[in-house]
Amino acid sequence: MKTRTEFLRELEDIFGSRLLVEDIPKSYWSDETKIEAPPSAVVRPKDASEVEELVKLAVEFQVPVVARGSGTGLSGGAVPVPGCVVVDFTAMNRVLEVRPEDHQVLVEPGVIYDELNAQLAEHGLFLPPNPASGDQCTIGGMVAENASGPRSYKYGPTRDWVIGLEVITPALGRIWVGSRTRKHVSTYGLTSLFVGSEGTLGLFTKVLFKLAPAPPARLGVILPFSDIRDAGRAVYALFKAGLDISALELVDRLTMEAVNKFYKVGFPEEDAVVMLEVECWSKDEDRRFSEMELKLAELEATISALGISCGEPSVFFNADEMWSKRALAAEALEKVHGCMLMGDVIVPPSRLPELVERIRDLAERYGLSIAIFGHAGDGHLHPTILVAKEDLFRPDVREAEREIVKLAVQLGGALSGEHGIGMTRIGLLELEVSQQVVRLCQELKAVLDPYGIMNPGKKVPIKGARPTP
Ligand SMILES: Cc1cc2nc3c(=O)[nH]c(=O)nc-3n(C[C@H](O)[C@H](O)[C@H](O)COP(=O)(O)OP(=O)(O)OC[C@H]3O[C@@H](n4cnc5c(N)ncnc54)[C@H](O)[C@@H]3O)c2cc1C
Repeated sequence: MKTRTEFLRELEDIFGSRLLVEDIPKSYWSDETKIEAPPSAVVRPKDASEVEELVKLAVEFQVPVVARGSGTGLSGGAVPVPGCVVVDFTAMNRVLEVRPEDHQVLVEPGVIYDELNAQLAEHGLFLPPNPASGDQCTIGGMVAENASGPRSYKYGPTRDWVIGLEVITPALGRIWVGSRTRKHVSTYGLTSLFVGSEGTLGLFTKVLFKLAPAPPARLGVILPFSDIRDAGRAVYALFKAGLDISALELVDRLTMEAVNKFYKVGFPEEDAVVMLEVECWSKDEDRRFSEMELKLAELEATISALGISCGEPSVFFNADEMWSKRALAAEALEKVHGCMLMGDVIVPPSRLPELVERIRDLAERYGLSIAIFGHAGDGHLHPTILVAKEDLFRPDVREAEREIVKLAVQLGGALSGEHGIGMTRIGLLELEVSQQVVRLCQELKAVLDPYGIMNPGKKVPIKGARPTP
């Protein structure tokens, strides 16, 4: 039987000073859930070969492995499990190959999303799913969570843009799945299987994306509503009208008050706003102006036809200015009490107005402050229960969290649209996913990770273990 000391000695042979065992900084103990657990060791690989060697050793010594990007995850995916090695991917941050001729880019997992898009802009291209954490989060974390953002309304989540992956798995070592082609049916949809796997099937060491042409301009519009229920109806009306909108969000009063209080960005003092983005494709500036006018008129006509009262819209000729306010939502809400319980539910778009209405009712019934914001055009919301840290596990708070998930499922929806299951939602899985499908996921995991060492206990319940809420 080999010992931990031998394991660490072998790790040191591979990683040298890039292995941490003593005084591991607290930043490695958690992610944005703030759940803390100490890792046994941290390694910072510089290339795929080192990751390959690490996984071989982890198999030999039966040591759990937890991948980590920037630790901005909101479901505990990067939180250490007992006795694990945390693999910090931030040093593997090279953009390996930009291929404008095929609208593709090959990157290492530690590249930061916004930094990649800044490079791609030089080629008139962009990677669309734009999480609000884009200035911090890594590509590996985005792929592992199947992250999305406002622009996923038009362009879909990360999964729709990954066409190839290099993955290192305990069972098969280093494999490549997917293809450089625009279509590919030579295998099962393996790339898709790995996207959203939350570090439980293997470690990504290269990601191949397809890219979209970037529009010459993006217009931002904020529509204020004195009643959030009207805002919910407006979102669905805009969806149904089939207008060429690239992002469609809803933000409520509690969220705007928090953002205004801590960042003073001047969100309107209304019950809710709908924030949307319209792309303008004309290359000529004069024509682009006419295009903008036309698109604004279409929006106005759609809202007027609803017969609900909407305040004076604010128009931003550079949509990024508007999104910088929206991106502050989660951070600002957390500052209200130093803590929060953020949901991630999603329903079919036609049920969004009802979801909004019933969350408001539920907040009243439980006497809780529940902020609502999210990628509403997709039917997606982050109902966020605002509580002090010591009240996080209060029975009524946990019951309200479950009720929100049950409500989404009842409306034909799901418990997570983008933040993943991780460790915080595993106890809620049974509200949506059947036992057979859970077993199927366990069997699939066992094919790639027969020793159960990849981020165990996250995403899929460990076989035979009862998930704890
Ligand atoms: C302020 C704020 C706003 C946010 N907004 C959004 C949003 O709009 N949309 C959205 O989808 N999310 C959002 N998030 C959540 C989070 O930013 C995303 O899930 C992001 O993709 C996580 O990236 P990361 O690099 O921080 O990953 P981490 O948190 O470090 O890890 C996340 C998961 O990825 C796994 N992982 C990391 N790297 C690899 C790898 N190389 N191979 C295999 N697995 C790996 C980890 O094990 C873990 O399970 C937000 C978070 C914050 C704090």
